[in-house]
Amino acid sequence: MPQARLMDGTGLARRIVAEAGERAAALTERTGRVPTLATVLVGEDPASVTYVRMKQNRCREAGIGSRRVVLPATTTTGELVAALRELSRDPDVHGILLQHPVGGHIDERAAFEAIAPQKDVDGVTFASFATMSFGLPGFVSCTPGGIMRLLDAYDVDPAGRRAVVVGRSAILGKPVGMLLLGRDATVTYCHSRTRELADVVREADIVVAAVGRPRLIRGRDIKPGAVVLDAGYNAGNVGDVDFDSAVERASLITPVPGGVGPMTIATLLEQTVTAAARQLGVGEGR
Ligand code: NAP
Repeated sequence: MPQARLMDGTGLARRIVAEAGERAAALTERTGRVPTLATVLVGEDPASVTYVRMKQNRCREAGIGSRRVVLPATTTTGELVAALRELSRDPDVHGILLQHPVGGHIDERAAFEAIAPQKDVDGVTFASFATMSFGLPGFVSCTPGGIMRLLDAYDVDPAGRRAVVVGRSAILGKPVGMLLLGRDATVTYCHSRTRELADVVREADIVVAAVGRPRLIRGRDIKPGAVVLDAGYNAGNVGDVDFDSAVERASLITPVPGGVGPMTIATLLEQTVTAAARQLGVGEGR
């Protein structure tokens, strides 16, 4: 059986982080300021603590500054909003990441909207969704942005192709569909109420799995030659696509781990440097 080519997110992310590091160093040399990302964590959820630590480690490796803000689990919406507004005003902070979910008692949307759009390097505000949807300069949600970079790196032009996005969350499914639409794909969204999911997926030239259900999409659901991007990350390092059967049908496929996952932090760092350049008024020719 033919085997799909693997899309190497780890290698691509490494190159993107290295380039972000070079840009950060050049900015620091020109301005004396260090591009800085503030991470805001509410409570001590172990997975969130790990994610924030990974992001900070990656910043450090790239020479990007990071400021860690940790708030107690009892933080109110008002207190979180106040903290995010303060960071939004702080000239030494260029990007802000609110690690989410933030806990059921907090109005997450109100918190996101307290992030200044020019510092919204995680692409979570209404303003960022709007600029992304209109194809205007701004910041994209990081995992969708990373998925588009993978497509570009492997010369997959979405124009005119049928793309099926399984999942419609605000941070992943919905924005990646908008980005694909912006690149002239014909986009279909699927979700938990979709009937005959496999039949819809079978139409796709490009499949994006963004569900959080292990191996939901099977090889027999993949159109031969399709490009498969699996954003799912489930217990046991398993994606939303049944890799072993899908690899025999697809032409290109992301492994889990090492596909979409590493692209998220890479996009975050890249956007932090871009935010710093814009705020410091330094043209980079980008
Ligand atoms: P989410 O907010 O839980 O959204 C899941 C989506 O999947 C929803 O739209 C839901 O439909 C849909 N869905 C659930 N069951 C379904 C089914 N049986 N058939 C079709 N659709 C179904 O999750 P998320 O935050 O978007 O994350 C999705 C996955 O990506 C997770 O595995 C997560 O760990 C992973 N992820 C990875 C990264 C990364 O950096 N690589 C970043 C973010 C997320 P409804 O809207 O109808 O409920």
